[in-house]
Amino acid sequence: MQEISTEPKKRFIESSSFYKNCKSGDPFISMKINDPSFLDDIPNRGTCTVCNRSRKYYCYTCYVPVKEVSERLPKVNLPIKIDIVKHPKEVDGKSTSAHAAVLAPDDVKIYNYPDFPSYENEKVLLIFPGKSAVPFKDWWNSQFHLQKISSKTQCNESALNSSESHKDDLFSSSSNSCDNMYQDKQQDESFSIPFSKVIFIDSTWRQSKALYSDPRLQNLPCIVLSSHKSQFWRYYREKLDTHLSTIEAVYYFLVELHGLMHPEVPYDGECDNMLFFFKFMYFKIRTLYDPLKLKAYRNGDLES
Ligand SMILES: [Zn+2]
Repeated sequence: MQEISTEPKKRFIESSSFYKNCKSGDPFISMKINDPSFLDDIPNRGTCTVCNRSRKYYCYTCYVPVKEVSERLPKVNLPIKIDIVKHPKEVDGKSTSAHAAVLAPDDVKIYNYPDFPSYENEKVLLIFPGKSAVPFKDWWNSQFHLQKISSKTQCNESALNSSESHKDDLFSSSSNSCDNMYQDKQQDESFSIPFSKVIFIDSTWRQSKALYSDPRLQNLPCIVLSSHKSQFWRYYREKLDTHLSTIEAVYYFLVELHGLMHPEVPYDGECDNMLFFFKFMYFKIRTLYDPLKLKAYRNGDLES
């Protein structure tokens, strides 16, 4: 005999950060994200130009947009290279790490664990709340302090003065690209980003612990980002509001990096288009699943 529950069964999405926060207006309103509405006008699924499989907007295994989308997609240039190491059980079509590789193809690479490089001779930084993790800002300040000590004081001062005079120009362009200012800054002898690559882990919290124990990752300098509220619609049992999706983590990392590199210059949306697909899908889900009407959201409605 079946047990009859008087409580209506809670859908997974009702426990997601998305559900809890989605009634509070447009979370992207102050961001500079290209209008993604053209995606709605694409009538049919396209074909991946690499693997020939049928895909809607981009291929989540090859990380390329379909032809119908590619010419209208924003391209974001990053000040740093990013590797994303993905857990093999992370479902390709649901992961947001593909967004990063499709929108910043020159700077983002995705690896499927355990096939990823050893970073032995590289200056890399792991974004993960591991045991030795320190807040990004603290780590940065300690590195910058070391750089300053190792440079000649006189040289430092003149270069810093020169970079001060450039600051007003750095953000005068409304371009989506955020690389020019970083290049400008990096040419400055007194300043270099104290790492060449950043590693993100794409997995659930439980899976990430297994990945983190890999010797190739475990000994890397490890930092945590400040707390940011997630807008992600997927539900993880162990997840808090501040447990970000991979693309949100990449985005907030870039914003924090900007703040550390240019403390005097307000962030002006240079990397906001990293959330181009995320914003599009967020509003798709809001339309498909109206929390007030409890309209069902069918898993798979949004798969690329
Ligand atoms: Zn493909």
